[in-house]
Amino acid sequence: MASSLPSSTAIKRNLPSENLNENQPKRNHWSAGLSTALDDEGARVHKDELCTVIKDKYPKARIHLLVMPNEYIANLKSINNTHLPLLKHMLKVGKEVAEKIAAKANARGSFAHFRYGYHAIPSMSLLHMHVISQDFISDSLKTKKHWNSFTSDYFLDASQVIDDLQANGSIHVDTTRMHKLLDNELQCHRCSNKFTTMPKLKQHLLTHTS
Ligand code: AMP
Ligand code: ZN
Repeated sequence: MASSLPSSTAIKRNLPSENLNENQPKRNHWSAGLSTALDDEGARVHKDELCTVIKDKYPKARIHLLVMPNEYIANLKSINNTHLPLLKHMLKVGKEVAEKIAAKANARGSFAHFRYGYHAIPSMSLLHMHVISQDFISDSLKTKKHWNSFTSDYFLDASQVIDDLQANGSIHVDTTRMHKLLDNELQCHRCSNKFTTMPKLKQHLLTHTS
């Protein structure tokens, strides 16, 4: 199916906890939670020779998955164009798994419409692509930062990341601009109505689910 992993010094084998590479956070640090989840068969919804898909532990929508490489890559800053086959594979797999889950759940409308992408400044170590249904109906969606991280330009579309990598050989993130985006006023991603609080926005989101 997919091509073999590109060889790169940015990629190291995903080693057991006692033998982590020096750039990897310690397994007991919260930011290493995804590396632990990668090895947790219970959390897994798909695994192949290149990537693993898990359910997000704190989903921000009805369907929220994370697609991660099996080999340790810290984040988008660590990648170059040798990783293009891997990123393309992750996007393809993310789409296939999301569509399968949506079909099984008989999902319709925003529940069956997905976006695929990366947070410009991730909190968790280990590269992960979000697959997120566009209903945003979830108890774990609590803060303005959560909302803006998935609905503003802070959410980097996976296909755009691939195009940028192909064009430039690396991914540039304007961190100052990105931090500001998280403070954007709350605005519905579907109709652009503005809201003063998250509960009001979340109440409004229900009107888009029928
Ligand atoms: P970010 O680093 O901002 O792109 O997002 C990290 C994502 O990982 C968030 O959506 C969290 O809900 C999710 N998350 C955090 N810890 C875990 C875990 N142990 N297993 C699965 N998902 C997690
Ligand atoms: Zn709306």
